[in-house]
Amino acid sequence: MQKTIQLRVKPEEAANALLLISILSKAVGVEQATISGYQILKQSIDARSRQQVWINLTVLAFVNESPSNRFQDKVEFSTLPQNAKEVIIIGAGPAGLFAALECIQLGIRPIILERGKDVRSRRRDLAKLNKEGIVNPESNYCFGEGGAGTYSDGKLYTRSNKRGSIDKILRLFYQFGADERILYEAHPHIGTNKLPHIITAMREQIEQCGGKVLFEKKLVDLVIENGLIKETITSDGDRFPTQALILATGHSARDIFTLLKEKSILIEAKPFALGVRVEHPQSIIDGIQYHCAVRGPNLPPASYSLVEQVSERGVFSFCMCPGGIIAPAATAPGEIVVNGWSPSKRDNAYANSGMVVQIDLTTAAEYLIKMGAISNSIKSLNDPLLLLDFQKHIENKAFEMGGGKQIAPASRLVDFCSHKTSTSLPDASYLPGLQAANLDLVLPPFVANTLQEGFKAFGKKMKGYYSNEAIVVATESRTSSPVRIPRHPDSLQHPQIKNLYPCGEGAGYAGGIVSAAMDGQKIAQMILG
Ligand SMILES: Cc1cc2nc3c(=O)[nH]c(=O)nc-3n(C[C@H](O)[C@H](O)[C@H](O)COP(=O)(O)OP(=O)(O)OC[C@H]3O[C@@H](n4cnc5c(N)ncnc54)[C@H](O)[C@@H]3O)c2cc1C
Repeated sequence: MQKTIQLRVKPEEAANALLLISILSKAVGVEQATISGYQILKQSIDARSRQQVWINLTVLAFVNESPSNRFQDKVEFSTLPQNAKEVIIIGAGPAGLFAALECIQLGIRPIILERGKDVRSRRRDLAKLNKEGIVNPESNYCFGEGGAGTYSDGKLYTRSNKRGSIDKILRLFYQFGADERILYEAHPHIGTNKLPHIITAMREQIEQCGGKVLFEKKLVDLVIENGLIKETITSDGDRFPTQALILATGHSARDIFTLLKEKSILIEAKPFALGVRVEHPQSIIDGIQYHCAVRGPNLPPASYSLVEQVSERGVFSFCMCPGGIIAPAATAPGEIVVNGWSPSKRDNAYANSGMVVQIDLTTAAEYLIKMGAISNSIKSLNDPLLLLDFQKHIENKAFEMGGGKQIAPASRLVDFCSHKTSTSLPDASYLPGLQAANLDLVLPPFVANTLQEGFKAFGKKMKGYYSNEAIVVATESRTSSPVRIPRHPDSLQHPQIKNLYPCGEGAGYAGGIVSAAMDGQKIAQMILG
């Protein structure tokens, strides 16, 4: 017999198989010895009670029968026939890789062109970035095999459940080596240490089936005739005959947006969010969320999600990384961009999160005009790259206010909200180093003020959060793409270029690993149709 049971147990009970079997036997109403096994189907944490943190479980109990695995079904990938239709995919991020895997399932041969390096070689460039502050514009936290998703936190939680099958994406991550936990945890997470192996396994699968993944192949030009892309040209001069092109180059491929604009291919400015990354000692966040002095051994480092409306402008936490590290995510020298990641165990001493403010076109334009960065003319106000220019402007300013190389401007949280430069900075996880600075001079007033009021409001929601032990680091600016590449809602083709399929986060259709992956799958299905 199999029975699905809902349980509410203590963390130590959830972590101990014998205790759990004993609880299960009572819930099912059978002798403990008859429980031959169990499988967790769903798991979430409920920390609302001040007295006790609970773990909610949905468990499949096996009574007097051999346990089976509900998650064992695998996707079969077959070798492509010689005459398979070909598609060129630009970018090996989640959107490009999942588009390629889907293409193979549909009998289409994917040829991925990726400007960066394979995960292993990429690691060396990240070490240089962290230790010496040297940014390689082709190989960094955003560019290279696996895209921005590889050395990311690997949180696989998304609200975009209408864009495709989240389950299908999670199962593929599991099939290529992620832990089974991602299939049942409410907020699944892989971790930076595990992602590279998974990405490598995906690439090997694509190659085994007859697809191609070519590194250090940067798209620099397109040959377009009669509204169709005929050839894709890479920086080394190679030309790829093109029947269909999936453009999955991510939110940081500024040269791609410029190329499209130069070729008069329609693109649009897209509102995005910008702010800082805030970091607390993890113990402070654990204490607040779990109502305890010290987190118990069976609880994961606590996370949070915050949102507030300040003077009609939204301020919200973004990509929170418990037990994480703040990463230098710039893609060019002369700019400071921060983001966050965490290892699978989330065992670092700090908790960081983006804290960002929604940026609209009008306010960004007014600010750039005031700063003399653009002219007050119809031409500059209609420029589809206006918000990208705004993003760049702030990142460059952060660089000027930092300490050179990738040393980022930072402030203690309360000092920032009091418009002061901190006289000292606490220890922090950001490896290239920090420089105390008045962040009012880095961020536009409408961003700084909204953040400052937001942080005070968050301090009221989470007692202890508004603390000078916390640090804010500028700038969290690559939250999503500041440009959209339009596509027809049904065919997903670009309105002017019929065999161009804008895809993933860079084109403005995803915001995170899972939604980018789902968008890649969706585009592949469209190409077959
Ligand atoms: C440090 C960090 C942590 C993150 N943590 C999380 C997280 O925990 N959870 C989450 O959901 N999201 C996270 N993100 C965001 C997530 O990584 C992105 O949303 C996701 O990777 C977007 O996928 P994509 O395929 O659309 O684009 P990308 O991942 O950006 O991939 C685009 C690819 O295109 C390549 N490319 C660009 N231009 C060219 C060109 N001209 N020619 C050839 N190739 C090109 C790039 O090198 C890159 O590999 C994080 C991002 C960073 C940087």
